[in-house]
Amino acid sequence: MRAIFDFERPELAVLLAPSYRGTQIFKSVYQRWAQTFEAMTDLPKPARTELAESWRIEPLPVHRRFDSADGTRRYLVPLEDSELAEAVFIPENHRNTICISSQVGCALACTFCLTGKIGLKRNLTAGEIVEQVVTAQRDNLSLQDRDSFNIVLMGMGEPLHNYDNVMKAIRILHDPEGMNLSMNRITLSTAGMLPALERLAAEPVIPNLAISLTGATNKKRDVLMPINRKYPIEQLLDAVRRFPLKHRQRVTFEYVLLKDVTDSPEDARALARLLAGIPAKVNLIPLNESEELNYKRPSDAAIERFQNVLVAHNVSAFVRKNRGNDISAACGQLMKKWA
Ligand code: SAH
Repeated sequence: MRAIFDFERPELAVLLAPSYRGTQIFKSVYQRWAQTFEAMTDLPKPARTELAESWRIEPLPVHRRFDSADGTRRYLVPLEDSELAEAVFIPENHRNTICISSQVGCALACTFCLTGKIGLKRNLTAGEIVEQVVTAQRDNLSLQDRDSFNIVLMGMGEPLHNYDNVMKAIRILHDPEGMNLSMNRITLSTAGMLPALERLAAEPVIPNLAISLTGATNKKRDVLMPINRKYPIEQLLDAVRRFPLKHRQRVTFEYVLLKDVTDSPEDARALARLLAGIPAKVNLIPLNESEELNYKRPSDAAIERFQNVLVAHNVSAFVRKNRGNDISAACGQLMKKWA
């Protein structure tokens, strides 16, 4: 069986005859949530029977769902092998977020992130990335409000380390005949894979960019995020400065606040200096603690002090609310408590 989620519309036009068949199926699956080919009444009967024999158009049943007291839901989405992908639905008034994974595990080994502890198991295919969105979308929304969400590629894995599959998934989600998500509702977050970031900058359609910084000097960042030894801060920020932005568009910088490591006013000043001249907004993420991590969350006072220093330097800075902590759905916690 082939999963429909793995294919772009132009690919279907080649695989299926007549060439408009792919467009019909795309509309049925992504816009009408058809669950069977039988329901696609714009297709001739023999075609429906034939397609049903070789194509899967339903997401695989969720392996497990964890429900947080704050409404956040974490999904273990089954894959064709026995691995699992993790996705999170974060409800908010008028602006739901679906956080999806690009890999099972991650190769980057950031020292404050649990996913980093398990290493990289494998890349997700484009279809497996799209399927996470479809699963979380249909479980939380109705057909009428089916597009009331943004997507963030902030789950497990480094999206730019799985470049081709991630970009293909983005094209499928963006297709106007399908889910039709506009690029300003998709955010790709990277720890700073430079060659791939430059490739992204040259794409015809480009999602919003988020950079995980967490360390305002190379000395600190080398330890916290080993990828910095390969692509140091100056090179990363140079690439960000060259990244094409639309009018009023900004780059998000994620900065994890670690007690006594990244939370001093001096760190905040160094961060403000780095971002000078970049249309930037900083998301401060107080560490989500875990026994397996050798770091602590700063006090609320330290968090506020850090934010105030940034704001005093004209850097917009927001403290990310902690969502889904009780179900290990918060940033850096995916891959915990699986059973
Ligand atoms: N690899 C990509 C995508 C993952 S995004 C990237 O690094 O951008 C996941 C975000 O969660 C990153 O910004 C990371 O800095 C943050 N994070 C990781 N571990 C965390 C933890 N324990 N507490 C809070 N945030 C964490």
